[in-house]
Amino acid sequence: MDASKAVGAAPTGLFIGGEWRDATGGGTFAVEDPGTGEKLRDVADGQAADATAALDAAVRVQDDWAATPARERGEILRRTWQLMTDRADELALLMTMEMGKSLAESRAEVTYAAEFLRWFSEEAVRIEGRYAANPAGGSRLLTMKQPVGPCLLITPWNFPLAMGTRKIGPAIAAGCTMVVKPAQLTPLSMLRLTALLTEAGLPPGVLNIVPSASAGRTVAPLMADPRLRKVSFTGSTPVGQKLMEQAAGNLLRLSMELGGNAPFLVFADADVDAAVEGALVAKMRNNGESCVAANRFHVAADVAEEFTAKLAERMGAMTVGHGTEDGVEVGPLIDEDQRAKVAELVEDAVGKGADVLTGGAAVDGAGYFYQPTVLAAVPAEARILSEEVFGPVAPITTFTSDDEALRLANNSEFGLVAYVFTRDLDRALRVAEGLDSGMVGLNTGLVSNASAPFGGVKSSGFGREGGTEGIEEYLSLKYVAIALG
Ligand code: NAP
Repeated sequence: MDASKAVGAAPTGLFIGGEWRDATGGGTFAVEDPGTGEKLRDVADGQAADATAALDAAVRVQDDWAATPARERGEILRRTWQLMTDRADELALLMTMEMGKSLAESRAEVTYAAEFLRWFSEEAVRIEGRYAANPAGGSRLLTMKQPVGPCLLITPWNFPLAMGTRKIGPAIAAGCTMVVKPAQLTPLSMLRLTALLTEAGLPPGVLNIVPSASAGRTVAPLMADPRLRKVSFTGSTPVGQKLMEQAAGNLLRLSMELGGNAPFLVFADADVDAAVEGALVAKMRNNGESCVAANRFHVAADVAEEFTAKLAERMGAMTVGHGTEDGVEVGPLIDEDQRAKVAELVEDAVGKGADVLTGGAAVDGAGYFYQPTVLAAVPAEARILSEEVFGPVAPITTFTSDDEALRLANNSEFGLVAYVFTRDLDRALRVAEGLDSGMVGLNTGLVSNASAPFGGVKSSGFGREGGTEGIEEYLSLKYVAIALG
């Protein structure tokens, strides 16, 4: 399949109550290819009235959907997993065109994204309660789990499918209806997925999707609508905080998957080659545009030179180019703003004394490319150590004791994930327990897994997606006291 066919297969309207339609007022916004800066498609620009219509549709079918047998809900997810698997090449091509990453990366995301649907198809039939005798005697205690109700799901651009399926999967499995607001920069993948869910038999109104170029204005009325029961948000911490304030009015249930600033610790006893392999995954997956991307490398002074030289050699040899080209490993960044931010953080670090071992500059020409970059001897005051870089830049600092490593790792308002490379079991457990993060990668640069609970602490948010925990975010607990004569 060629790229224009994959892009052309994506719907471009709003999907409300089982029908594709234009936005109120007929407005559209352009989606572009970050590898060329050229427009791909115009997408319907949903307005506040459309978001309300989407919630109307979700509310209308909530009771029926909750009463649909769990097996049926699960089978729809399972069929969609199959459809995504069968059409992985088309979906990957579409994703690369609108998001930029290499085709291999997009294929990996399609697999990861589909896996959430398969996982939650299996969880749908395991929503259980509890029955207990009152310890004091005379009554019984019954607990049951029921769907939370209509949800608003807001997703970012960096994983155009997976950030959606890890909300949509458990919401469908739990029996919730939903309004989805995909990212303005990458709505096409989610629109295509919506068509596949429909093809798999998802009833009208269960999932409604409202792309929009004015997210705040469009979703604000939903946040104030008492019929909405939950918001699941993946994105930046400042937007998450704004949504929490808005959610206070109706005391909405919240899941917040927010920003990260992952430390990558390499201890002196580590297998340095394995640490370099792990670093390449943790840093360069998704062009570095990942909330779990290693943002800063803290390396034991004894192995720092070896680790730094090997990482710089590998990153300097990576092939940068349009994501659809053969052999490309690093695609463009998502837009000029993102590239400018990466450049600014590198300039700040270099201005404060960091050494550039490889890269260090944008790539001339069309598209938003930035060279894979390794910075050594990065001073503590460099902004890149405390701000999320979201690009292919690895800043390296050193430490001389375990206490110092842990202190450096935890010196952040964020706490999503941390990576630890050591062969010492005692040290591994001590450090894993001491880290202020929701996840730890121990001798691995990859933690994302549909069957594990993904999420953070501190300014990285709360709530968990994936694993057996993920469906709980969409379930309410009810307790029934039963008199027994
Ligand atoms: P963002 O700017 O916060 O946007 C995320 C989503 O929120 C988009 O759909 C956006 O719409 C929407 N949005 C923006 N302002 C809003 C408002 N006032 N009210 C309601 N919705 C609003 O984040 P991003 O730049 O797309 O994504 C990057 C961030 O996401 C990074 O910080 C990254 O770490 C984080 N992230 C976290 C996780 C995790 O699981 N913890 C996973 C992936 C990414 P528009 O597209 O129209 O702006």
